[in-house]
Amino acid sequence: MDWIKNVFDLFYPHFCYGCDEVLHNGNDILCSNCLMNLDFIPLTLNNNTEMKRRFYGKLSTEHCLATLYFSEKSIVQKLLHELKYKNQQKISAFFATLTLQHLKNHEVFNWIDFVVCIPLHQSKEKKRGYNQLDGFGNELSKQLNIPFYKDYLIKTTKTKTQTKKSMWQRAESKSEFIVNAKYENLQNKNILLIDDVMTTGSTLEIAGKCILKNSTNKISVLTMAYTR
Ligand SMILES: [Zn+2]
Repeated sequence: MDWIKNVFDLFYPHFCYGCDEVLHNGNDILCSNCLMNLDFIPLTLNNNTEMKRRFYGKLSTEHCLATLYFSEKSIVQKLLHELKYKNQQKISAFFATLTLQHLKNHEVFNWIDFVVCIPLHQSKEKKRGYNQLDGFGNELSKQLNIPFYKDYLIKTTKTKTQTKKSMWQRAESKSEFIVNAKYENLQNKNILLIDDVMTTGSTLEIAGKCILKNSTNKISVLTMAYTR
């Protein structure tokens, strides 16, 4: 029934989030040209190198992975902007598919027991209507056949822009996550902590420390993108 889809596409065309061209060939998010121009992190650099180094001496991690480099005015930045502020939630699952294609057969995917995400504060999620990691976590869960516990971490404090904070406030915000009590009995597990972009890694560090506190679990980190 391809012709029905073709007629449908004629009246309701989808546009590439990267360049605004009309999409063809079954592409739903990016055109072939933009897909080819994505800045993938070479597999040889992935894991235990740049990303892991940012956690040295601060957070114990097993694997640290990302799929794409993040830079200003890049296709990745456009995609994340649409995902976070324009209600384009399908982009979240697209990142999961891209990740599993790029990091295909990586040992981390046999290592995980379940996936958890950096949560939004309840009031922020209510306002936005979703967490931008929902689709990413759900799609990883579906394709890898492992659970995604979206409410594993709970955000307890609302963070304001980092630069506006005093040193005292920054120290205070270190307790901004707690592990949901209903998961406290899950021990000796390998947990994959996901986020959208890793820049300094400070949020992931705080969340990671919260997960590891008084627990026998281990964590790995996976983000959609990573800032060099
Ligand atoms: Zn395009």
